Amino acid sequence: MRTAREIRQEIEARFGFFPPFFAPAQDDPRVLENLWQQTLRAYVENPLPVLFREKLFAWLSRYCVVPYCVVCHSCALRPLGMTAGEVLALLESLPPEHGAIDETLARLDASGDSLEGWPTPGSALEEDLFRCSVFLFVHQAQAERCRERVRRLLGPTLYGHLTVFLAYMKTCHLWVEAHPELSYEADERARQYLGPLLREEPRLGDFFAGYRERVRDERMQRERELLEAAGAVQRAEALSQRLSRQTEALLESEEHLRLALESAALGTWDFKPRTGELHWDARCKALFGVPEVAEVDYATFLASVLPEQRDRVDAAVARAHAPGGDGEYREEFRIRRLQDGAERWISSRGRCFFDEQGRAERFIGTVMDVTERRRTEDNLRFLAQASALLATSLDYEDTLRRVATLAVPVLADWCGVDVVDERGQVHRLINVHRDPEKVRLSEEVHRRYPIDPDATVGVPQVLRTGEPLLIPEISEEALVHYARDAEHLRMLRELGLRSYLAVALRSRERVLGALTLVRAESGQNYGQEELRLAGDLARRAALAVDNALLYREAQKAIGLRDGFLQVAAHELRTPVTALKLNVQALVGCTRREEAWSERTVARLTGLERGVGRLGVLVDELLDVSRITSGRLVLHPEELDLAGLVREVAERFRSEAERAGCALRVRGPGPVVGQWDRLRLEQVLSNLLSNALKYGAGQPVEVALSTSPSTSGGRVLLRVRDEGIGIDAAAQGRIFERFERAVSDRHYGGLGMGLWITREIVTAMGGTIHVESAPRQGAAFTVELPRG
Ligand code: ADP
Repeated sequence: MRTAREIRQEIEARFGFFPPFFAPAQDDPRVLENLWQQTLRAYVENPLPVLFREKLFAWLSRYCVVPYCVVCHSCALRPLGMTAGEVLALLESLPPEHGAIDETLARLDASGDSLEGWPTPGSALEEDLFRCSVFLFVHQAQAERCRERVRRLLGPTLYGHLTVFLAYMKTCHLWVEAHPELSYEADERARQYLGPLLREEPRLGDFFAGYRERVRDERMQRERELLEAAGAVQRAEALSQRLSRQTEALLESEEHLRLALESAALGTWDFKPRTGELHWDARCKALFGVPEVAEVDYATFLASVLPEQRDRVDAAVARAHAPGGDGEYREEFRIRRLQDGAERWISSRGRCFFDEQGRAERFIGTVMDVTERRRTEDNLRFLAQASALLATSLDYEDTLRRVATLAVPVLADWCGVDVVDERGQVHRLINVHRDPEKVRLSEEVHRRYPIDPDATVGVPQVLRTGEPLLIPEISEEALVHYARDAEHLRMLRELGLRSYLAVALRSRERVLGALTLVRAESGQNYGQEELRLAGDLARRAALAVDNALLYREAQKAIGLRDGFLQVAAHELRTPVTALKLNVQALVGCTRREEAWSERTVARLTGLERGVGRLGVLVDELLDVSRITSGRLVLHPEELDLAGLVREVAERFRSEAERAGCALRVRGPGPVVGQWDRLRLEQVLSNLLSNALKYGAGQPVEVALSTSPSTSGGRVLLRVRDEGIGIDAAAQGRIFERFERAVSDRHYGGLGMGLWITREIVTAMGGTIHVESAPRQGAAFTVELPRG
């Protein structure tokens, strides 16, 4: 290892003097050797052009606070031919803007890939290399691209020398700053050239004088910038984090929206009213049956809406666009899809947005296929209508005709109902077609080719098995197969059958008939949905038919019963009348002859009453059958109603006594009119006997009055008792047949008296009503016209 002296000698030999730069290392030969070897290899022997090196050294000295480097290397520039002015200009030139390196690199990129050697001194390329060197020195951490470019340009050797030189300058800066006492005055370069330089350019003196402060300021400024940059970076990072979070949230919400749109099967549209631009998303296009690549506009949309709904939809869109409106749009309409012509129901919702002038700017919204929902609604409506219609008639055939008429044309072009009679014959009961010509034709087919009950297809099959039959499309082969001969085939073809379904009318495990639906010209084929609907309709129809059948049977049974009652009452009447006459004669005898014991007389009188009641009951039975068969005939005659009332009351005198009722008759003088005497007697008798029966023990009053206010004059006949009275709820029904408001145990009776009374009064053109409350008696008022 060499001594410090030996090294110093070598340095002096090399420079012709011992630069003060090495002075602080003199005490330790290892440090001195190290410093010298670095200087020798990186600086003294570095093959980069000396002017480039010195200029770079002088300029980069601004990053070293001790003025030694800047003064010495500025001075070194003078013997290399630079004027003091040029040196000052160099030193004062500011570091290039950070972003400027990009321009420099772009220029270098344009100047080719690699150089043959160092560029011409003073050339633009050398200046760019100068700038790159500064950047590599100052922005070490961000110089990746720059480093890469310079390395490619200079090749490994020159790039190596440049890098070593830059590293050496860093060493110098650290070294000099580590020894701030270092003075340039002792340096030979300064001694020789500083004076002339300063003389030549005195401002250079100012520059050097203010150097420390200047470097310190610049350094502080850089640090401030660095801090700011770090803050900015931090802020930028926070911002970017926030942005990325927001982006994530946005993506997530977009994803939600997409999922929502997808799961609701919603298509979206976006319309710009001013330019007429319309955008449909893929689902929207699919809904309208438009190819995905096709361009659409408002006309495309409107054309797809069924003609009968087009104006309504167009008007709704116009309303949404109207300035000053709320921009809301909500419509349901039917479209015909472009590609396959299928009809669909679309529900569309949208909103129009307006610009500051209130003009419609953007109109966006969604569309959804609601065909299924509409179909279900239509079906339910159809079934509800059917149920209502079916409930209106108890006539078997009429009911079926209503069903068929309802099905055509909603569900079918043709609807037939076939039933099986007791002999197993199939009858076409109903035959309804939207085209009357076709009704005739199908009847003709039926007449000439009656249904074979044993056939294995069609209606006979359904009637036999009760299972539905669906033929979505009737093929030509099927027709040929089904036709019995050429003429039959021709007629079937003429009927234009296209799709067929038949369902059994089944109730209480019995097949009552079959409902057949056929589609011809309306086009659509039947599917499972129509089969289900027809099944629902058939169930309702079968129930109604069954009811109608039951009703018919009940009517028949009632007819039989009434017939029997009539005959029975008739047969009973003759012996009862004879019996009554005989008993009356006997009672007459007993009263005249004293030989009869009192007991016998009482028994005979009781017998007379019993026979009397029997006669009344038989008469009631006869009246029931008369009235129900519409054979109640009146025989009006002129009579005095007041007299008639007194007479009848007189007949009830003894019965009233037995019942413990004081019977009072109130009325004006004669009330003459045209009435059927016997029937009036019957009315009064019914009311009086009820009053004595339900009002026993209390007074009973019969009052007759006339009401002059009514034109033609009416009479009011009122029978009032103070007995058990009638519950308000029962007051309406007691006038119906067999209706009673008392228990059979306490009061005997058939529940027919009031019904017969009302029928008679009604036949006379009058009315009857009751006023009553429980335990407060009852007042029955009959109002009659005079004739
Ligand atoms: P019934 O043979 O039962 O008397 P009606 O047709 O004459 O038949 O009367 C029907 C029902 O009206 C009676 O069962 C009874 O409940 C009620 N009713 C009729 N008249 C009176 C009355 N004066 N007071 C209370 N209830 C009466």
